[in-house]
Formats: sequence, C-alpha cells, structure tokens
Amino acid sequence: DLAGKMSERVADVIKELMRLGIIATAPQTIDADTAELIATTLGHTVKRVQESDVENILISEVDKEEDLKPRAPIVTIMGHVDHGKTSLLDALKSTDLASKEAGGITQHIGAYRVTLEDGRAITFIDTPGHEAFSEMRTRGAKVTDIVVIVVAADDGIKPQTIEAINHARAANVTIIVAINKIDKPNVNLDKIKNDLLTHGLVAEDLGGDTIIVPVSALKKVNLDKLEEAILLVAEMLDLKVNHGGLTAGVVIEARMEKGKGTVATVLVQRGTLRNGDIVVAGTKYGKIKRMNNDKGVEISIAPPTIPVEIYGLNEAPRAGDQFNIVSNEKQARDIVDYRIRLAKEKKIAVVQRSSLEELFLKASGVVGLVKELPIIIKGDVHGSVEAIVSSLQKLPAEEVKIRILHQAVGSIAESDITLAKASNAIILAFNVRANSNALTMADKEQVDIRYYSIIYNLLDDIKLVMSGMLSPII
Ligand code: GDP
Repeated sequence: DLAGKMSERVADVIKELMRLGIIATAPQTIDADTAELIATTLGHTVKRVQESDVENILISEVDKEEDLKPRAPIVTIMGHVDHGKTSLLDALKSTDLASKEAGGITQHIGAYRVTLEDGRAITFIDTPGHEAFSEMRTRGAKVTDIVVIVVAADDGIKPQTIEAINHARAANVTIIVAINKIDKPNVNLDKIKNDLLTHGLVAEDLGGDTIIVPVSALKKVNLDKLEEAILLVAEMLDLKVNHGGLTAGVVIEARMEKGKGTVATVLVQRGTLRNGDIVVAGTKYGKIKRMNNDKGVEISIAPPTIPVEIYGLNEAPRAGDQFNIVSNEKQARDIVDYRIRLAKEKKIAVVQRSSLEELFLKASGVVGLVKELPIIIKGDVHGSVEAIVSSLQKLPAEEVKIRILHQAVGSIAESDITLAKASNAIILAFNVRANSNALTMADKEQVDIRYYSIIYNLLDDIKLVMSGMLSPII
C-alpha cells in the first residue's frame, strides 16, 4: 500500500525497511512513524491524515441564528410486537397530501415524509422498533426527535413497551403515546393511563406533560390528532436547521441492487445534498449519480429532513453511519482509508478487560457538575430487581449520579446490549445470564456484563466505583 501510494517498487520499500532493521513482508502493517520515515527517505512529502484533518472538513460550522430555518420533526415509532406499529406507519402514510394529489405512492425506502394541507411536514423513520433505534445510536447518530410509543388498547403495557420507553428515554427523546386499536370493544383508556403513570409517563389530564392520543390505525381514527401532537411537540423543541453551509446527515438504510449498484436512503441533517456531490458515509464513499425521493421521483436537491435514496456509493454503508460531503474523491478516499486503518488498529490492539472501576470511568458522562453512571439491571424476579434499584437510589449521590436506563426481569437479550452500547452503560445481572446471541454481541461490542447473586456484593462494587469516580479535591 505504501509503495503504491508513493509509486515506488515494493522491493525498494522493503529494502529501506531493512536498512532500519525492520524485516517486513509486503502485506505487513508498519506504524505511522516508520512509514513517514521511509516516505521521507525516498524523497516524498508526507501529509498524515488524522482524525483532526477529517474533522476539520466534517465537523459542522457554528450556525448563525439568522441562517436557521424551522425544520420538520423526525419521528420513530416503537412499541410491543403486534400493537400496531407497522399498521400505524402505513395509516400515517395515507395522510400525506403530496401522495394524495400527485397520485404518487410512498415507497418503502426506510423513511418517508408526510406533508399536511397547511404545508407542515413530519418525517417518519419507516423501520419501527427500539432495537433498530438504539443500533443507530451506537454509531453516534442522533436521528429521532420524537418517539411515538404504540400501546394496544386491548393488551396494555407489555415488556417491550417498557423497553421502548427506556430506550427512548436513554436517548433523551420526547415521548408521545399512541393508544392504538381503540376500535376494539371494552377499551379501558384510564387503566392504560394509570399503568403508564407507573412508568413515569404522566398524562396531561393527570397533571403531567405526556401527550397521549387514542388512535385506530385500522379505522384511521385520530391520525390527525396524533400528527397535531407531534407538530406541537416539535414546535416546543424549536427544531431549526441551516440549509446552507456544510452538508451532513445520516444513513437510514442501504442495500446493493442488481443493475443499480448501491442504493442508500439518507436523511440530510444540515445543509443541502445535490446530485453529483461526493459523499463519505462511514467507510464508504462515492459520487451521487442519482437521487430519488420517497415517492420514487428523481430529484436533484435534497434539503434537510427530506428522505432520499442516493445511488453511486462504492458499497453499502450501515444504518446509523453519518455522512458528509467532501470536495473531491481523493479527499473521500483519504478519509475512508484513514477510518479503515483506524478500525483495523483498534481490532489488532489487545483488548484488555478493564477493571470495573476503569470501565465506569470510561463510561461516565459528565452532566453539569455531576458525573453519571448509566446502568441496566436485569434480575430473576421483580423483588430482587426492585430491591437493587431502591438500594442503588439510596446511595449518596453528591457527585456521581446513578442513572438506571432500564430494569427488567429476564435474561439479558440483544436489545439490552444495544441499549448499553448506545448509552455507554454497563449491565448488572442478578441471578440471570445472557442468551447466546446477546453474549456474542456483548463480546463484539465490548459491553460489560457483571453477574451477581448477592445484592450486597453488587452494591459494594458500585460504591467502590462511585468513590473512585469522585473528583479530586483541589
Ligand atoms: P406491529 O407488530 O406492532 O408492527 O403490529 P402490526 O401493525 O403488524 O399489527 C398487528 C395486528 O394488529 C395486525 O393484525 C393488525 O391488523 C392489527 N391492528 C393494527 N392496528 C389496529 C387497530 O387500530 N385496530 C384493530 N382492531 N387492529 C389493529
């Protein structure tokens, strides 16, 4: 690779390496300093591509207030299986004015946009569920502004409903509840509202600030009310964006298509995407050859929050990868090479299991002056989970605040791992184990699971960590 970059013969590079006392073969990896020395010796000028170089190109500018325009909210739908997420997404699609007027049918591209009669718009992520949501977060993507939790009126709050609530909360996203299937007989809305209360979602009529909208996806009842609620929350969030300046966004989904090459659905989060732009998305790149909107219509510009399919990337990036526009293909290749190299180095580096203390230190985010410990608790029975939670909450929290992202009965599943990864949390397992998929995933993602069978030991560990995390007294 190095020889190729310098247009030198591989043999000459190896010879120079030997002169430095390094016996290397062609596919061997050498460190950056050695590479620089070799290149300079051979009469080349070296420019190291560092993350900072990359960031200089990629990090967004500071926007001026006058450049900011209001933008459409981006919404993800979550909830327990069979409570009607897909049905609701489909029903909401049918309220789009643009598709009604032009006869254009909304395609499944991973996200779609609904425009109301008064011109206001909402962008929906078309892949429901909290696992996809947190999976994207693990790549650093903050896509969603508002989460709609769907609860079936005839079934009430279920384990996955609680998971969804906690995944949304861990991401600090505003929650709206849609109670679905209200067309069914014997629906008791008050009971569901009361149950929501125990999970910290207090309905407005009970004095809280959670908007709850009863709907029927099947009979298309109250879809307008749900949209109104979303737009109301969006207004309160004061969502704004600069249509000019640097362009960046996030990959929603991507695939290879026969005859078309790579097709990636992206959402522009700032700036404006244009046909012909050179895109870097994660470790993939390419020049945009064509853009389609969610109605399958070819477009040449995509402003923020408009989902578009782009054609022309060399390979399919992953959902949640961030993308940026760069000025030429060489720059794109440099960035991608750098990222691939970085990933390789990380993989090669011997991963040493850090001590619990170090792990917490790494995991802790600083919120104001108080450090935070994000924790997920899984236990064998309700009683023990409750006991752990209440004991943890009783620990003095002057400088370190424990943040319990999720607590549940049952073995550790993949969804727990995605949540832990996305939030840098660790998992405390009390008398439960991880299922095998979750275990593989935890290993790959380096999520730490700590097993306990005595509450006292668990608390002791946490106390230790908290004392280790306290800031030194100056
Ligand atoms: P998901 O698993 O959450 O995506 O749920 P689906 O959208 O697949 O819906 C599960 C089942 O509930 C399907 O049989 C739907 O027809 C049904 N369903 C969805 N919404 C409603 C509704 O508003 N009323 C009634 N009666 N059934 C519904």
